[in-house]
Amino acid sequence: MVVDGTVLPALLHPEMGHIALQRLPGDTAPSTCRFHDNCAEGLTAGPAIAARFGASLDTFAPEAPEFLMIADYIGQLCCQLVLTLSPQRIVLGGGVCKAPGIIGAAQQAMVRHLGGYAPDAVARPDYLAAPGMGEDAGITGAALCAADHLPEGV
Ligand SMILES: [Zn+2]
Repeated sequence: MVVDGTVLPALLHPEMGHIALQRLPGDTAPSTCRFHDNCAEGLTAGPAIAARFGASLDTFAPEAPEFLMIADYIGQLCCQLVLTLSPQRIVLGGGVCKAPGIIGAAQQAMVRHLGGYAPDAVARPDYLAAPGMGEDAGITGAALCAADHLPEGV
């Protein structure tokens, strides 16, 4: 969570990927998270998708049930973020979110899960977005966070 260009201070590093999701009916695939049976990480990360379907998400068509399941789970995660943090924008990085169409499908799922309980702003096409820095977003963000905590003069 970034506020006015600064990562929100916290007790631990916030790990929104461990937010609990509601499993879809009939979904009994094991979670790949060692802590939780139904968190976003355990249900939607690349290893979880590979274990669940035996293939990466980008091998499925956007209308495939496998694709829509993952879109629903990411949409649930984003719904929880909207309700908890009310962010101006949600940036979705990582390999799974590179699958063509996943961000748009997740946005539709997010809006559906919000059930009308949010401003129209969350439905705008760029509310969910890929990181502008592409592959370098994670490491660049980590370096900037570390730089914020260096003693003066270093
Ligand atoms: Zn977890």
